[in-house]
Amino acid sequence: MANNRVIYPGSFDPITRGHIDIINRARNLFAEIIVAVFNNPRKNPLFTMEEREALLQQATADLTGVRVDSFSGLTVDYVREQEAAAILRGLRAVSDFEGEFQMSAMNKELNSEVETVFLMTSTRYAFLSSSVIKEVAQFGGDVSELVPPCVEEALKEKFNL
Ligand code: ADP
Repeated sequence: MANNRVIYPGSFDPITRGHIDIINRARNLFAEIIVAVFNNPRKNPLFTMEEREALLQQATADLTGVRVDSFSGLTVDYVREQEAAAILRGLRAVSDFEGEFQMSAMNKELNSEVETVFLMTSTRYAFLSSSVIKEVAQFGGDVSELVPPCVEEALKEKFNL
């Protein structure tokens, strides 16, 4: 089922320039990217699903071929529902590898037709995660170089800064 639609799933709590970098680079490879906020019951997010989706929408508004959505349940079911060919994930340090390897193997087990495609992080964003952004922002640290302006605003509001 060769098609050129890919799903980029994640918590995006909130979206960072690391995520945007992966999205931008994937635009050279895929005709359509669906950035999908995943409702992970194990995580305790700072931003609601609606807030995360709205921030993604604002941050990717200028990017053609990019659509924002959300889902709950199994990623492979969502991939099938959207008739996408692959799942896109970003890989940072070695520490990302084990979890991503396990998840992609499990997804393959659940649906052998779904491939996971990995893009290596750009070195300038290798240290960047949504968690580190939240840690720095809550104490008033400057994250303007690391997140889109809408996220910088939203963090200030969340932390009453
Ligand atoms: P999750 O909670 O699903 O791991 P995240 O929202 O933290 O999701 O990230 C979504 C995807 O983006 C993951 O594949 C993650 O490895 C990737 N990612 C996160 N930060 C970066 C970054 N700085 N550079 C490249 N990829 C990243």
